[in-house]
Amino acid sequence: MFSYRGSVIITYHLKALTGLRVGGSVENFEIGGLDSPVIKTTAPIPKFYQDGTDMPEGTPYIPGSSIKGKMRSSLEWLLGNVDKMLENKKKILEERGKPEEKNKKYIENAGKPCDCGRCSVCIVFGTGDQNTIQNIAGENPKELPGPPRLKVFDAYLTKESLEVLQEITQGLLTEIKTENQINRITSRAHPRKVERVPAGAIFEGKMVFELYKEGDEDRLNLVFTGMRALEDSYLGGYGSRGSGRVKFENIRLIYRPKAYYLGIAQENEIGKFGSLADIKDQEIIKELEEITGKPKNAG
Ligand SMILES: [Zn+2]
Repeated sequence: MFSYRGSVIITYHLKALTGLRVGGSVENFEIGGLDSPVIKTTAPIPKFYQDGTDMPEGTPYIPGSSIKGKMRSSLEWLLGNVDKMLENKKKILEERGKPEEKNKKYIENAGKPCDCGRCSVCIVFGTGDQNTIQNIAGENPKELPGPPRLKVFDAYLTKESLEVLQEITQGLLTEIKTENQINRITSRAHPRKVERVPAGAIFEGKMVFELYKEGDEDRLNLVFTGMRALEDSYLGGYGSRGSGRVKFENIRLIYRPKAYYLGIAQENEIGKFGSLADIKDQEIIKELEEITGKPKNAG
């Protein structure tokens, strides 16, 4: 039913336009330290950079899960799926006739990622709900979502960006921003220290979009839409207070057919794009369909 056809490799630079705070674990931090440390590598990565140098321990990075999760939640808002989830959960609770549970539980459940297993967001981003998968398999196995099409890898500081940060932060690689909460009546200040990656930092990232079924080419559009939505949202914490604005730059798209991995064909370059504004979704999808030999009408 599903057969692997090939992968679109998306590489990009993700630039922090404002300070970025993608959270690490407070447990690993000394007492009296920061309220909210930034996530960093816990060991050096030997010969990580092309010039053979290591990435030092304590280098901030962006987990792929943060990028993917934010793209997905932005998409679900954008496509109206959050409204649908609210309606669905409300209906289920009403059918069960437990009004006392209604207000407590349904908002919490409805706010989780979609788990229908049938919509395009579930197909591209995946659904971890085993009950859903089993239900669909029982009803109509043809409607199974198949493997999540999109993988998003952790994004690491570029060598140039690492050197700039080492210079401007005296080796710390992050900045400490003090935020103040002032009591409206007593005027007493409650300062809080927030660690951020300084604006201007550039991370190098990679996503892989895999094709399994005819028509998957079209779903690539959802990835670009998610990237656009992320640019007008924020990554990490404190977004409503200015942190986490990011921009995709130097985007490169390559298609690697199954035969490439078998060592009997070359990869195809789809294009290089300075920013998302240069990406024309339908032109790229058309080009991809020409490469994969699956014109739209045949699917
Ligand atoms: Zn869904």
